[in-house]
Amino acid sequence: QYFQRMEACEDKVNAFVTLDKERALAKAEDVQARIAKGETLGVLAGVPVAIKDNLSTKGLRTTCSSKMLENYYPTFSATAVERLEAAGAIVIGKTNMDEFAMGSTTETSAFGVTRNPWDLTRVPGGSSGGSCAAVAAGECAFSLGSDTGGSIRQPAGHCGVVGLKPTYGTISRYGLIAYGSSLDQIGPVTRSVADAALILEVLAGPDEKDATSVRREHYDFRSALTEDVKGLKIGVPKEYFSQGLDTEVAEEIKKALDILADKGAIVTEFALGLTEYAVPAYYVMASAEASSNLSRFDGVKYGYRTTVYDDLAQMYKRTRSEGFGEEVKRRIMLGSFVLSAGYYDAYYLKALKAKALIKERFTQAFSQFDVVVAPVAPTTAPKLGESLKDPLQMYLSDIYTISANLAGLPGITLPIGKDLKGLPIGIQILGDCFQEKAILKAAYALE
Ligand code: GLN
Repeated sequence: QYFQRMEACEDKVNAFVTLDKERALAKAEDVQARIAKGETLGVLAGVPVAIKDNLSTKGLRTTCSSKMLENYYPTFSATAVERLEAAGAIVIGKTNMDEFAMGSTTETSAFGVTRNPWDLTRVPGGSSGGSCAAVAAGECAFSLGSDTGGSIRQPAGHCGVVGLKPTYGTISRYGLIAYGSSLDQIGPVTRSVADAALILEVLAGPDEKDATSVRREHYDFRSALTEDVKGLKIGVPKEYFSQGLDTEVAEEIKKALDILADKGAIVTEFALGLTEYAVPAYYVMASAEASSNLSRFDGVKYGYRTTVYDDLAQMYKRTRSEGFGEEVKRRIMLGSFVLSAGYYDAYYLKALKAKALIKERFTQAFSQFDVVVAPVAPTTAPKLGESLKDPLQMYLSDIYTISANLAGLPGITLPIGKDLKGLPIGIQILGDCFQEKAILKAAYALE
């Protein structure tokens, strides 16, 4: 059914880079045969999933939407993918993204843009735009994305689906091609909050292959799916509702807060503080980490290698010049600059300090509130081409999502309405570290 759906819309949406149809159909038949035999199957048995193309899949092309990895077939699967498959899910393909997850629109992909299924003249958001568009268009039951600065939550908002970024360390990053390792988290993109809770249960857990993964006390996320928000303390950072936020988006969020208040939640506005430092701190840190992580793509070990060169230095230079796109090069240059001798203290170290202070502000906020509610993006989905003209404007549009990554917090986005053009409007609910149940509960009450 999902492959049939793709026939109807994939040439317009372009959510996928690679499909794995034959293998997927064979696996589906196997599941059917096992059901017929009366076997007890995993909780996701036969459920078709699409995987963002920066997650390694054994024997299945994994490109990061970059020419650099155009012909890369991993010899292993990411732990997150293995866990889904162990629960019975069937990988049907790999989804388009901004190249190496750098971007907010899915337009920096080397394999063409993904279009927003609600309006094909608009972007789906990014960088997990393919994963979110695929779920919105009904081309898979759910998908995986990755979120370094909002890449699950923001496209989920623009596509009208549910996107969850768990607390840093909850899902193993093993096999996720690193962008900003201290910020990256994998998470599910689904059509409902209940699905997000279920899939998080499958994905979460410590992994000896990822030293930053953590063992948590509880993994029963579905027990949060009650509508009981009576007494739930909700903080609303007033800075997020000042200038720059579209009025239609602001109105829908206010309506959602009224619904929660009607159900007994206690909604309070407060000053979070330091919000103006999040974007600069993030772009310094993420670029610094990216410049280091992407140094492995040198034409020697794997991936693209230029064909014409005289010596090793020229081979490196041409490989990287030809293999990476504009945005990736911009980040590598910015990152190398802020890490270089003489500038490290002024930029990178300062960004680390800003990160620590921002985290402190959230810790203070969560001493008063159970969850914090915010917009996901300043506007609904922009037109194709707008952000490419003005990268700085694109960076600034990440204002509401990146703090969660800087502070390691969990966040969920769900659709709450549409604007006058019929485009989805999302809301974002953030929680303290390890408080996924609180955000799932608030989200469930709004669905
Ligand atoms: N838009 C942000 C960036 O370009 C976030 C991307 C992400 O979360 N992967 O870095």
